[in-house]
Amino acid sequence: MQCNIRHLVNLAAKGNSAAGLRNHGAILGALYGRFYSTTHDADLVVIGSGPGGYVASIKAAQLGMKTVCIEKNDTLGGTCLNVGCIPSKALLNNSHYYHMAHSGDLASRGILVDNVRLDLDVLMDQKTKAVKSLTGGIAQLFKKNKVTHLNGFGTITGPNTVVAKMADGSEEVVNAKNIMIATGSEVTPFPGIEIDEETIVSSTGALKMKQVPKRMGLIGAGVIGLELGSVWGRLGAEVTAIEFLSSIGGAGIDQEVSKSFQKILTKQGFKFLLGTKVVAASKSGSGVTVSVENVKDGSKQELEFDVLLVSVGRRPYTEGLGLENVGIVKDDRGRVPVNSVFQTIVPSIYAIGDCIHGPMLAHKAEDEGIVCVEGMQGGHVHIDYNCVPSVVYTHPEVAWVGKNEEELKNEGVAYNVGKFPFMANSRAKTNNDTDGFVKVLADKQTDRVLGVHIIGPAAGELINEAVLAMEYGASAEDVARVCHAHPTCAEALREAHTAASFGKPINF
Ligand SMILES: Cc1cc2nc3c(=O)[nH]c(=O)nc-3n(C[C@H](O)[C@H](O)[C@H](O)COP(=O)(O)OP(=O)(O)OC[C@H]3O[C@@H](n4cnc5c(N)ncnc54)[C@H](O)[C@@H]3O)c2cc1C
Repeated sequence: MQCNIRHLVNLAAKGNSAAGLRNHGAILGALYGRFYSTTHDADLVVIGSGPGGYVASIKAAQLGMKTVCIEKNDTLGGTCLNVGCIPSKALLNNSHYYHMAHSGDLASRGILVDNVRLDLDVLMDQKTKAVKSLTGGIAQLFKKNKVTHLNGFGTITGPNTVVAKMADGSEEVVNAKNIMIATGSEVTPFPGIEIDEETIVSSTGALKMKQVPKRMGLIGAGVIGLELGSVWGRLGAEVTAIEFLSSIGGAGIDQEVSKSFQKILTKQGFKFLLGTKVVAASKSGSGVTVSVENVKDGSKQELEFDVLLVSVGRRPYTEGLGLENVGIVKDDRGRVPVNSVFQTIVPSIYAIGDCIHGPMLAHKAEDEGIVCVEGMQGGHVHIDYNCVPSVVYTHPEVAWVGKNEEELKNEGVAYNVGKFPFMANSRAKTNNDTDGFVKVLADKQTDRVLGVHIIGPAAGELINEAVLAMEYGASAEDVARVCHAHPTCAEALREAHTAASFGKPINF
C-alpha cells in the first residue's frame, strides 16, 4: 500500500503541481488515513534541524512565513547539538577540570584535593544533560515561534513538495512555496576501515566510550581529532595522532600557530606521526593494529591501540533526499550546488550549511540559514566567508579569522605582523595560564586588519572581537585605540594590534 502511495505522490509531483498534489493528498488521506493522513501547506519547508535548519526555521517564522521543519532524528539540533559541538565541548570542559585536579595544577595553586578519581558515567551524564536541555530548548523555540515540527524523513518529490515519512510508516505531505535543504553532513569513512563505534570509532563513538583506553590512535590531526584526543588524553589515554600532512590543526591554520600548538600538545603528552599515511587497520584481540607508512621515505611500521578514532573529516549528507526527482546534480564532492543566494538550479529549492560549499561549521550554517530566508523576502544576501572564524577548543584554545601568513604570501599582499605573547599579559600571568600568543596581520599600506590568529586562553571568545573588527573593515590602529578592560586576556589582542600598527606593543 505504501508503494502505491509513494507512486501517486511521485506522479503528482512530476506534474509540478502543488494543487494536483494536494488533491492526491486529500484522496489518499481519505482512503488510507493511517498511512497518509496529513497535508501541510507552508511558505517554507526546511529539511533538517541542525544549526542551519533550525535557525532558518525560526527566522522564517519570525518573518511571517508559515514554516515546517522536517527532522528524521528523534531530537532536534542536528550534528552540532547531538553528536558534535555541544557534547564535545561538555567533555572538553569537564576533562580539563579533571586534568587540573589530577595533574597537580590545582595543587600548584594551593588547592589540595586528595584521592582524585574519575567517574566516567557521571562525566557522560553531564554531557547528556547538556545535550538534552539544548535540544529540548529548540523544541520550545519551535513552539514559541509557531514552527511546525515533523519528526520524519524528508524526500523532495517536486519543486514545491516534500514527503515526510514518519517513524510509524505514515507519510505527510508538505506543499510549500519554497524548500530549504539543510541536511548537513556525516562522518567520512576511511576506505577499508570498518567503524564499529567500540574499538574503531568515529567522533560519534568517541563521545560515548565506556572506559578510558590505555592507548588511543587518531587518524587525522585536524580539529575534531585534536579535540577528542585531548578529552581522552586528559582522562589518562596515551594519544598518538597519525597525520598525512606535515602539520596539525587542519585547513586554514597559520603555520606558526600550528607549530606552537604541536609543541604545547606534545608537552601535554600527545605523540604525533606527521607526514604519515595509514595503510590499513584491523582488529586484533581486544585492540586494533594500524599499519602506517612514512610519506617521504616509504618506511613502514605497525602500531597497536586499544581504540582507534577515524577523524578524517565529514562529507555532505543527501541520502534519500530525492535530488534526482527535481534534477539537482551534486558536485564532485557530493555537495548541493547553489548560487549566491543559496538557490539550487530549481528556483524554489535552496540549500545551506554543511551540505553546500564552504567550511563545515555550525555558525556558518546558522548565518547562511538566516540570510537565505531574508533573501526569499527580497532581503540582501551576503556572507563574507573571510570573516567566518575557526576555533579548536583544546587547552589552550586556537582560533583564527581572515588570512594566514602563508595565504598573504601566496597572494603577494604586503603586510605587517603584530604579535603579543600571553606570557606578558597580566590576566594570563595572574591565572598562571600563559601558553600562546596573539598574531595580527595588517595591510602594510592601509593598516586594515587582514587576519588574526590566537593560541591561548579563551582564544575562542577573543576571536569574536577580531571578527567584529574585520567585518567593519577596522585598521589595526582602530582596535589598538579601543579601550579594553584590565586585567583581561583581551588586552593581549589589543597589544598585538598595537604592535601591528605602531611597530611595538606597550607591555613587551
Ligand atoms: C565532534 C564534532 C564537533 C564539532 N564541533 C564544532 C564546533 O565546536 N563548532 C562548530 O562550528 N562546528 C562544529 N562541528 C561541526 C558542526 O556540527 C556542523 O558544521 C553543523 O552541525 C552543520 O550544521 P547543518 O545544519 O548544516 O547540519 P547538521 O547539523 O548535520 O544537521 C542536519 C540535520 O538534517 C537531518 N536530516 C538529514 N537528512 C534528512 C532528511 N532527508 N529528512 C529529515 N532530516 C534530515 C539530520 O538528521 C540532521 O539532524 C562539529 C562536528 C563534530 C562531528
